[in-house]
Amino acid sequence: MILPGFVNAHCHAFQRGLRGRRTGGDFWVWRDAMIAEAERQTPELVLERYTDTYRELRAAGYTAVGEFHYLGLAEANAAARAAKRAGIEITLLLGAYARGGSERFRQSSPAEYIDQVAELRAAGIRVGCAPHSVRACPPDWLEEIGRYAESEGLVLHVHADEQPREVEECLAEHGVRPIELLAQSGCLGPRTTVVHATHADDRELDLLAEAGGRVCLCPTTEANLGDGFAPFERLRERGIGICIGSDSNIRIDPLEELRELETSARRLSLRRDFCDAGTLLCFGADEGAAALALNSWPDISVDLGHRSLAGVASEDVLDALVFGCGADVLRESY
Ligand SMILES: [Zn+2]
Repeated sequence: MILPGFVNAHCHAFQRGLRGRRTGGDFWVWRDAMIAEAERQTPELVLERYTDTYRELRAAGYTAVGEFHYLGLAEANAAARAAKRAGIEITLLLGAYARGGSERFRQSSPAEYIDQVAELRAAGIRVGCAPHSVRACPPDWLEEIGRYAESEGLVLHVHADEQPREVEECLAEHGVRPIELLAQSGCLGPRTTVVHATHADDRELDLLAEAGGRVCLCPTTEANLGDGFAPFERLRERGIGICIGSDSNIRIDPLEELRELETSARRLSLRRDFCDAGTLLCFGADEGAAALALNSWPDISVDLGHRSLAGVASEDVLDALVFGCGADVLRESY
C-alpha cells in the first residue's frame, strides 16, 4: 500500500546526540545540556551526524524534514548537504536569535539574519524564517522578520508556549502572552507554524485560527521534556491545522507521534473519537508539507505482509497502522 511520505515539520537533528542523557531536573536543566551539545557542533560534525539522523528519519518513513536550525550559517549549509546525502527533502528553517542561549545562536541584527537567509536561498536551499521564540527575539526583530517573510512569501516557524515560565516572562516583559505578541508583531499568518503551543490559552488559539496558521506538535519530545499535554481538543474545535515533528529526536517514529496525539487526548477526555486514522495521517504528511512549503515529496509503502498487520481486514488497515504499528512496517517506495 502506497502512502504519501511522512513530513517531519520540526527537527533539531543535533539533539539526537542527547538521547539517553539523564539530566534530571526540568526542561530548563535539560536546556543547559542541549546548549552544551550545540556548542560543540562543527560543520564536519553536522554533516556526519545529520546524515545519520536523516537516514534514520528516512528509514522510519519520513521523506521530508523541516530543520529548525540555530547553529550558524556554515552548519546550515552542512545540514542541507546532509539531507541531500540521506535522500530526504529539506526546508531549512533558519533560526533568528537576538538574545540568550549561546553566542553561536545569535545574529547581531535582523539585517544580518536576513542576509543569512538570502545567502542560503542564493545557494538553492529551500528556506523558511524561524525567529526562535519570544524569549530569543524582541518585538522589533519579530516585526522585521515577519515583514520579510511576508514580502518574500516564506514560511515562518516559531516556538511558543512550550513552558509556563516562557508565558510568565512574556507577560512580565510585554503584558501579553506569546502568541498575542506574535500577532501584534506581524508574525501570525497563513504561512506561520507555531511549534508546541502547549500552554496556549483560548484567546491565543483564537488568534491562530483567525490568522489561518498551523501548530506543529511533537508529542514524544514534549513528553520527554515534561512540557505538558498539547491542547489537541481545543485545536480541533477551532479547525487549526496540525502537523508533527520529531523535534529532539528522542524517538524517530511518525506513527508513534500521531498515536500519542490522539491517545493523550483520549486519556485527558475519557473519549475515543477525536480523529480517525485518515485525518491523523493527513497531519503526518499533507499538513507538514504545507507548513514547509513543499509541493512534492516522496511516497512510502506499507508492508501489508508485516506481522503487525497480518490478518487485519482491509477496511481496518489504516487504523491498525496508526494505532497498532511501529515504523518498521514502513518501506521506502521507489
Ligand atoms: Zn524545537
